[in-house]
Amino acid sequence: MNRTEIYLDHAATTPVDPRVLEAMLPYFTEQFGNPSSIYAAGRQARAAIDQARARIARILHCQPREIVFTSGGTESDNLAIKGVAWWHRLNGRGNHIITTAFEHHAVLHSVQYLEKFGFEATYVRPGPDGIVRVEDIEAAIRPDTILISVMYANNEIGTIQPIAEIGKLAHRYGILFHTDAVQAAGTLPLDVERLHVDLLSLSAHKFYAPKGVGLLYVRQGTKLLWQQNGGSQESNRRAGTENVPGIVGMATALELAYAEREERNAHLLALRDRLIDGILQRIPDARLNGDREQRLPNNVNVSFEGVDGETILLNLDMHGIAASSGSACTTGSTEPSHVLLAIGLTPEQARSSIRLTLGKDNTEQEIDRTLNVLEETVTRLRRLTSAQARAR
Ligand code: PLP
Repeated sequence: MNRTEIYLDHAATTPVDPRVLEAMLPYFTEQFGNPSSIYAAGRQARAAIDQARARIARILHCQPREIVFTSGGTESDNLAIKGVAWWHRLNGRGNHIITTAFEHHAVLHSVQYLEKFGFEATYVRPGPDGIVRVEDIEAAIRPDTILISVMYANNEIGTIQPIAEIGKLAHRYGILFHTDAVQAAGTLPLDVERLHVDLLSLSAHKFYAPKGVGLLYVRQGTKLLWQQNGGSQESNRRAGTENVPGIVGMATALELAYAEREERNAHLLALRDRLIDGILQRIPDARLNGDREQRLPNNVNVSFEGVDGETILLNLDMHGIAASSGSACTTGSTEPSHVLLAIGLTPEQARSSIRLTLGKDNTEQEIDRTLNVLEETVTRLRRLTSAQARAR
């Protein structure tokens, strides 16, 4: 098996920052106590969680008790959506959920699951630029709408949504507002007051902390039916022994991301634009998917007309370059990306797309090498396709 030399799939996951790992290590070995235990080792672990909660709260501009630790983005999204829905069902208060057609499946499938139980949903389509219009959300509001869920930034095309405006709109109508901020964390501001959100999902492995840990911000007073039952952890909101090293790692990684945000973003932006410009200038019939400006500083999603995206990815992999064709969770599926279809691409165009997502440790040299390999690959594959067509 060849090695990955150039990693351009940071939207799928990121490596753990050595500084994060260092902060976590004591909680695997010396301070391994169960945070629910009353003796010293347990109290140490409890203190580490309390500190992590306070450190994260400073970045989110919220109260520490408004943070519920979870196992990651998927659980946070499920908890937000099902929790709100079931509380409203129990209290006979409305039945309708608004979300968008290009959410991550953690949101989409949660809403679809609720539809099986009689909840109703509207899936608002984003514009061809990959941005949801506030007016379209407003037009979908009904008297029985209980929740609006719109992602902060899309995981495939990186487009940034007008979250604060949608939040204000939701609150004007007295509707709860959830945002899946999994892809936004680290690069975009996470101030929950300015974003006007009631619920916000994060996942640690997208910002240089380990997999399997995340959080849901829950504004004080938000009514949820808690989904994970058992012990009294997380103040009876999410049962299960806490992932102490993971939580400490997530707090450390989030602090590092926001302390270093300006320089990381400037670096990412320069690399992203070098990659986009290089592709558009050097490869004919390439198109950038999603708005060029309102997009994450690390996201490049392009279609290469007439070439199969999966085949490009296999060729990149042979050169040690890791990229993807959209969501890692749907890799291997033959269905074209629901995100690209939602912004109006044909299934064929969607299948000719690849996603390259950059990270803080990528270099200009890596981008230049990727450009060379991409240009050579797309040109060769196109020649092959036209030779095959001529032979038929
Ligand atoms: N939401 C978005 C936008 C994502 O990109 C992802 C992961 O790719 C998730 C949710 C799921 O997060 P996790 O992998 O932590 O379950």
